[in-house]
Amino acid sequence: MSVLVVAEHLGGELRPVTLELISAAQELEGPVAVAVIAQDPGSLTKAVDVEGVDEILSVAAGPEEFENDVYHAAVEQLVEQRGPDVVLTGFTVNSMAYAPALAAKLGLGFASDVFSFRSEGGALVAERSFYGAKVHAELEFPGHDRVLLMVRPTAWPPAEGPGGASVTEVPVSVDGSRARHVDFQAVAAGDVDITTADFLLSVGRGIGEKENLPQFEELAERMGATLSVSRPIVDAGWMPNARQVGQSGKTVTPKVYLALGISGAVQHLAGMKTSGTIIAVNSDPEAAIFGVAHYGAVADLFEVAEELEKLY
Ligand SMILES: Cc1cc2nc3c(=O)[nH]c(=O)nc-3n(C[C@H](O)[C@H](O)[C@H](O)COP(=O)(O)OP(=O)(O)OC[C@H]3O[C@@H](n4cnc5c(N)ncnc54)[C@H](O)[C@@H]3O)c2cc1C
Repeated sequence: MSVLVVAEHLGGELRPVTLELISAAQELEGPVAVAVIAQDPGSLTKAVDVEGVDEILSVAAGPEEFENDVYHAAVEQLVEQRGPDVVLTGFTVNSMAYAPALAAKLGLGFASDVFSFRSEGGALVAERSFYGAKVHAELEFPGHDRVLLMVRPTAWPPAEGPGGASVTEVPVSVDGSRARHVDFQAVAAGDVDITTADFLLSVGRGIGEKENLPQFEELAERMGATLSVSRPIVDAGWMPNARQVGQSGKTVTPKVYLALGISGAVQHLAGMKTSGTIIAVNSDPEAAIFGVAHYGAVADLFEVAEELEKLY
């Protein structure tokens, strides 16, 4: 299946979701084109030239920053000219502003917040959750030759490696824009943004009591790690939702994920299994977390914490 990825950028830099979309596009094993829509696409076209990209569509349109009407018009013309089977955008505030409307206008199959997809017998099957992540569903798109998927940020690792894509300049006509970009202000991600941490110390129900939590907050700080948790810790009100890893929490991809007293339920694994190195400590040798861990210790987590405290 041929894929058109729509790059996102801000302040002259690619947004991380763009390289994740390129990784996601590889799932379909077809040609991958990446559209860079910008006032001056030059340096951005170089940044998207990574392994797995076949063609870069350089679209000189609009002002420096994202504007809804510009992207709507440009992507519409790219879809009509190039006819990709699948269009991938990030499930981001930018793409939310135009992608659903464009899919409706062009009669494309559509799904948002997609965290997995595949081609099955030539047909696309996408996965997303519903009802506050209580239901996990697979979607098919019968009757649609072309599908637009908005992909959940951090669901795929960023694409990397040297590229060698051809660059095609694609003229599009854009009749002005009703909106004007004034400023970008990032929203604070709770008390901490666990999605950008390199090292997560993650604790689960195995810590037993709320009173034990400060010990791990302190240990995380001493180790230079960020503390994250499994869902029961959030459900119990011991930590804010911003710290939760998993299907109904955050998807994280730290270099190191140290899990203490986490069983490895499928909903937890969905949020951390692509971490660089996973180290698990659990007293149960049958715990599912050991199935994804690169290193594991069948041990009492408090004894391990005590040893770590001696080192840090
Ligand atoms: C729709 C839905 C969405 C969900 N979303 C998420 C999500 O986003 N994130 C998430 O985490 N969960 C999520 N869950 C919940 C998930 O199914 C599990 O219930 C949860 O992940 C379990 O958390 P846990 O591993 O901390 O606890 P448990 O499963 O209770 O595991 C605790 C572990 O600690 C070990 N342990 C106990 N004492 C010690 C000790 N002293 N030393 C070492 N090990 C010890 C035990 O052997 C056990 O393996 C979701 C569930 C549903 C239905």
